[in-house]
Amino acid sequence: MLPGPTIYRECPSCNKPFTEHSLTSGNTFGAVYWSDGKMDAEMLPEFPAIVKCPDCNNIFWISDATVIGMYDWFRGEDYEEPEEWKKAKSVIDLKIEDYITAIEEKVFSGDDNREEYLRIHLWWLINDLIRYENRQPGLFKQHNDMFRANLKHLDKLLRCKDDDEKLMKAEIARELGEFDLCVNRLEDVSNARGNVCRQINQFVQCKSQIVQRINN
Ligand SMILES: [Zn+2]
Repeated sequence: MLPGPTIYRECPSCNKPFTEHSLTSGNTFGAVYWSDGKMDAEMLPEFPAIVKCPDCNNIFWISDATVIGMYDWFRGEDYEEPEEWKKAKSVIDLKIEDYITAIEEKVFSGDDNREEYLRIHLWWLINDLIRYENRQPGLFKQHNDMFRANLKHLDKLLRCKDDDEKLMKAEIARELGEFDLCVNRLEDVSNARGNVCRQINQFVQCKSQIVQRINN
């Protein structure tokens, strides 16, 4: 993994500079895949498209914040960073509550791709509560109503345009406990993804509704 330059942008709300990290190259070696479509790749970290300002707590899309400069540590730039850049804080990752706020406040402003992004990431974050070793099933259950409502909305947004979306829709049906619908949807997925389909089918046979690791 090769880190890219530090990118400085300006918060669209308070105009203070913040830093965003970038990646010049990475890979998916040793990546872990999950039934809900999430991939954990240490060598290819995901940089979120929506973040919180470290100064004013405003939630905004990174691409909506103006780039004010860039500093490449590895190239050893021949200039000093301006003082105000040195003080720039790193953006804050959104938590479950922030994603819920972002959806409620419609920060996607009618853009289906952005709403899809928010709902997929909210789904993954809630599943994270039961995904990793330090499981918090009680907390997961507390989010049950939001979890189900979010999946139903996401299901309407996804259009089955490719295997990834078809698999996601099958998984949504499974996690909502609609097992027959899940099996039907898996039949639409191409043979190229047969390995994933077989595993999701097995989870259905066990009447499992929770997120599961997919073996390659
Ligand atoms: Zn701000």
